[in-house]
Amino acid sequence: MKVFLIGAGPGDPGLITLKACRIIPQCDVIVYDDLIPLEILSLAKPGAEKLYVGKRGGKVYMKQPRINELLVELARQGKTIARLKGGDPCVFGRGGEEALYLKEHGIPFEIVPGITSAIAGPVSAGIPPTHRGYASSVKFVTAHEDVSKESGFLDWKHLAAEKGTLVFLMGASRIKEIAERLVQEGMSPDTPCALVQDATTPLQRRVVSTLARVGHDAREHAIGSPCIIVVGAVASLSKELFDDIPRPLAGRTVLITRPSHLALQTASLFADSGARVAVYPLLDISPLPFDLPDVSAFDLFIFASQNAVPLFMDKMLATNLDARSFGKSRIYCIGPKTRDALLAYGIRADGTAGEYRAEGIVEMLRETDLSGKRVCLPRARGARGYLVDALKERGANVLEIPVYETVLPKDASKEGFLSALAEADTVVFTSPSGIRHAIELLGDEQDLLRSKRLAAIGPVTAGAMQRLGLPAQVTAGEYTDEGIIEALKGESL
Ligand code: SAH
Repeated sequence: MKVFLIGAGPGDPGLITLKACRIIPQCDVIVYDDLIPLEILSLAKPGAEKLYVGKRGGKVYMKQPRINELLVELARQGKTIARLKGGDPCVFGRGGEEALYLKEHGIPFEIVPGITSAIAGPVSAGIPPTHRGYASSVKFVTAHEDVSKESGFLDWKHLAAEKGTLVFLMGASRIKEIAERLVQEGMSPDTPCALVQDATTPLQRRVVSTLARVGHDAREHAIGSPCIIVVGAVASLSKELFDDIPRPLAGRTVLITRPSHLALQTASLFADSGARVAVYPLLDISPLPFDLPDVSAFDLFIFASQNAVPLFMDKMLATNLDARSFGKSRIYCIGPKTRDALLAYGIRADGTAGEYRAEGIVEMLRETDLSGKRVCLPRARGARGYLVDALKERGANVLEIPVYETVLPKDASKEGFLSALAEADTVVFTSPSGIRHAIELLGDEQDLLRSKRLAAIGPVTAGAMQRLGLPAQVTAGEYTDEGIIEALKGESL
């Protein structure tokens, strides 16, 4: 029983902390607000409950006292809870209030800091909140309160006399009023002022202005929430430090269908290229029971999937064996991800296929004498027969061990997939089972996929898509996420 109050960062899934990534998969319930990168939810363990308590479209789903009670109730059921908040939980996030309530009720909790939009907002638009010769301090201000009223907490005279940087949060609807009030209280109308909307996300927009003009500029650029308002000399640095070159996938919304444990990394890569990303895992890795063979009895091991590595290695470790048992046997792998997975267990592969599919493995072993060699091949159940046939043809003695199968995730549903699809213009498939599961989920509505740009990670997936009547318009040249991004770049919208 514990509540983790976790900062989910300002929006870019790449700005979620490693600590958050480590804790979330251990939690039974995820309680989340608006303004969190939704990709983070894919880190939840299978079957974890996901409760939305934010305010969609301005409508409050759950009032703060009820959220506090909910956290206590869930904890008292013995659950471990991830309470996810945008940015940092304690910067205008009511994290402190929730922590106090938990404390009063004897519930153990831990606050996990996150990168706040108050810092990431300016920085992502090329505005250093402090800068030598410009600003030696920075103040975070809530603009939530009515500017025309004195709240007792905000001292506008003081704010207007500020020499450092002012960063206003929650002020999108009051930009003009805030600027006018500062000027009215004595700040120069020429003071630089910048607006950063949807900072760190592919939707990010930036306006650099002055206090005198910012109200007008905000309206002209239709700036809306969420938005950071930066006031002070540093705002002018944006023009020099912000690179406004449009990113290659800007304007696209890409649906990632990878298994959830891989989705976050993929999503971050696409977001870095400027795409908006939606995640809907269409497959899950379901480990199969298998008997560990006598590892020392093989001449060659071939890992043809990154998922097979931890399953095989963990089995070895559980039997009190480790990498030394491989002795002099040679170890080969299908691609860089599998190579890295092996490295994590202290094994440097003897070779990585040049082309990341079974054909590439066979090609890599072209010069290797396989006749009479004993080959162990741990991989997915139902993988293509090609590799085994090709190795046998060359005289190898192959033991294929199915260590996992790919299944449709338990929480996948037609409605869920349809709503994820509705947002996307591009759907990325990374395995034949992904496309099979998509068709299974959609049933008679599979034609919907035809209205999207379909991308395949490589020729094996593309072949399956072709056979299933949903051909890919884009196939990656290198069979990795980076390869798909590269291929999509060449496509016009
Ligand atoms: N705890 C959050 C802030 C919550 S208050 C944090 O540390 O970031 C909500 C306000 O945060 C929004 O009104 C907006 O001013 C700001 N905000 C959050 N995410 C933002 C983003 N990606 N871009 C710009 N402003 C953002």
